[in-house]
Amino acid sequence: MAAATRLISRLTLVTGGGSGIGRAVCQRLASEGASVVVADISEESANETLGILRSDLKGQGHMAAVVDVSSKESITKLVTNIQTRYFQPPSVCVNAAGITQDDFLLSMTEEQFDRVIQVNLKGSFLVTQAVAQALVACGAPKGSIVTVGSIVGKVGNIGQVNYAASKAGVEGLTRTAAKELSRFGIRCNCVLPGFISTPMTDKVPEKVITKMKSLVPMGRMGESAEVADVCAFLASDDSRYITGASIEVTGGLFMG
Ligand code: NAP
Repeated sequence: MAAATRLISRLTLVTGGGSGIGRAVCQRLASEGASVVVADISEESANETLGILRSDLKGQGHMAAVVDVSSKESITKLVTNIQTRYFQPPSVCVNAAGITQDDFLLSMTEEQFDRVIQVNLKGSFLVTQAVAQALVACGAPKGSIVTVGSIVGKVGNIGQVNYAASKAGVEGLTRTAAKELSRFGIRCNCVLPGFISTPMTDKVPEKVITKMKSLVPMGRMGESAEVADVCAFLASDDSRYITGASIEVTGGLFMG
């Protein structure tokens, strides 16, 4: 099916949809015909994304929603609101909400460690569980859950012991979910970005960015849209025989 229409009549949920990679995913899914629920902890940024989504394709209706992915209560409310509005759960979910709180292992506080695990790892668990439960309960024939991990979950990164652990965790979570949910027609995959220009990496000092770029075989940072393209592929039936996989989007950084 042509990429331009392959998501028509699919209801999709994107966490972290207010910024960076999540916003680019919302744009890409909408451009392929999906209805998109833009979920973010910031109402303002979720609404900003909502305002730039294509909405002229068959049956499209988007919404913005506030959610804190680290809170089960907040996610339950979100999934209920979605089902009230659309009379169905999302059959595509992209977990893109994520945070960093960097520090060296020797000085990282317990709070810094816990918060990053709560948002990145527990958040992915809670959203994946809630969406899968809703899909199974209504007997939906298929679903695709995509979680944005990171290449640093595989190779580690100085100053990111909490973040690297959370991102290694989402890969294990995803592979397990893939094994358990295959019999319900739900596929679960990860996308592992390398260094992508977003508000998250805007915080990284220029010196470090220059060094990182020199390590990337393709010689540049990636764009959010380049990660979004892979998320859209995994969301669509073009990847119908792919589950439990992690696809690196790194310009070759840290390849085997
Ligand atoms: P970003 O621009 O900071 O976007 C992340 C979004 O998630 C923000 O809108 C953020 O809101 C939201 N968020 C934070 N905590 C949340 C919570 N508890 N519940 C709901 N939403 C929450 O970062 P990004 O670079 O696009 O990152 C997107 C994903 O890609 C993350 O999982 C990140 O770890 C991953 N990733 C990024 C890179 C990269 O190089 N950029 C590389 C590898 C992986 P606030 O801004 O209000 O906090």
